[in-house]
Amino acid sequence: MGRRRRQKVRRRPQKRIPDVYDCPDCGNTAIKIELHRDAKFATVKCGSCDLEMNIEDLNPLTESVDIYGAFIDKFYAAREEEDT
Ligand SMILES: [Zn+2]
Repeated sequence: MGRRRRQKVRRRPQKRIPDVYDCPDCGNTAIKIELHRDAKFATVKCGSCDLEMNIEDLNPLTESVDIYGAFIDKFYAAREEEDT
């Protein structure tokens, strides 16, 4: 008796990679970036601590990775100012 061949259905769950990044403040991977391209700014928020920052001057090509980079720069720049 032949076994019935089951056609393998490849199901790919459409998992969107969430735009979550490491937080420079608390160290958790809880940074979320909301892009508001129309308003030309982005909100960077940490879901773990209360860190929140707006990044402005977006251009149409700005991706959330770029926002994250700008956010990191800003964060450390602000830190250095505090230290002095
Ligand atoms: Zn944090």
